[in-house]
Amino acid sequence: MRTAVFSTKAYDRQFLQAANVPPHVHELTFLEARLTLQTAPLAAGYRAVCAFVNDVLDAATLSQLANEGVQLIALRCAGFNQVDLHAAQRHGLCVVRVPAYSPHAVAEHTVGLMLALNRKLHRAYARVREGNFSLEGLLGWDLHGQTAGIVGTGRIGCVVARILHGFGLRVLAHDLAPSPELEALGVQYVPLAELLRSSDIVTLHCPLLPDTHHLINAQTVQQMKPGVMLINTSRGALIDTQAVIQALKSGHIGCLGLDVYEEEEDLFFEDLSNQVIQDDVFTRLLTFPNVLITAHQAFFTRNALEAIARQTMRNLSCFERGEPFDPHVEVTPQRLRK
Ligand code: NAD
Repeated sequence: MRTAVFSTKAYDRQFLQAANVPPHVHELTFLEARLTLQTAPLAAGYRAVCAFVNDVLDAATLSQLANEGVQLIALRCAGFNQVDLHAAQRHGLCVVRVPAYSPHAVAEHTVGLMLALNRKLHRAYARVREGNFSLEGLLGWDLHGQTAGIVGTGRIGCVVARILHGFGLRVLAHDLAPSPELEALGVQYVPLAELLRSSDIVTLHCPLLPDTHHLINAQTVQQMKPGVMLINTSRGALIDTQAVIQALKSGHIGCLGLDVYEEEEDLFFEDLSNQVIQDDVFTRLLTFPNVLITAHQAFFTRNALEAIARQTMRNLSCFERGEPFDPHVEVTPQRLRK
């Protein structure tokens, strides 16, 4: 099936081409452009569009894609918050995604951020390279015996819970649907307010939905323990960044690890090292010694890219042949209520 692949990087091309083999062979056109209303006409004549996390799939762009003859939006990611699902339905566009590829990739990166922030590895690395071998300011604490609070224990949150349990942390969790396996492990499900009140580390793994937008805001920050470590590898807009900056300034938040940022579309995945960054909120975050930011790379392992490519090619085939999709692949507006 003729498919326009937007926001293509060299690694997308490499892994999608490797997966483009029988029985899932498709005519892929790789476009470097990010999908926006302005670039949507590039999809003219294609039945499918393959998009990533920061492509724009709002009502206007979807309308334009439908006018160009596109019938399928194949997301090569798990999250679908960037898609106006109601508009897609109105225009008869089918939206599919890769619901699970490697929860381990994201979970391991999440724990990597925790370890690095706690022992200040990002600062120690720079210091030693400068010939500064002082330990002043690098004091950490044992994670063993601390309390971690996991918001959202789906595929990724579950793996994070297991790793942290293995480290000897007490693990609290909050989810609409508790996991019996985690409960059997000793993970305790509590209301969000109790999780925030009791956790030394809070890590976010719920999807970005209308009711989780700015889940961490000025009020919920105040419910957290003074000195808390906050980690977000899920979606940027789960956090009200301005509220978090105020809490970093006051010291209420002890450290912050981010792999996602609510305005990341204009920054992440590009080399902007020769440009002046215009986002003053983001640049303020960069000034804190106790903030560690990675640019949406938690998913970025070989295993994950192989799995994403395989499932994407399979999704294209299912649509083309009119076969049913694998469970949780197709996303409709009903998903927004979950
Ligand atoms: P999942 O659907 O398996 O799990 C999400 C969990 O969140 C579910 O158990 C759900 O019940 C729960 N949930 C929903 N609303 C909630 C709420 N209000 N409070 C608490 N829990 C709630 O998803 P997953 O595969 O574990 O992925 C989690 C998120 O991670 C995705 O939505 C995506 O945004 C993000 N993600 C980030 C990267 C990255 O590279 N940084 C990669 C993949 C996924």
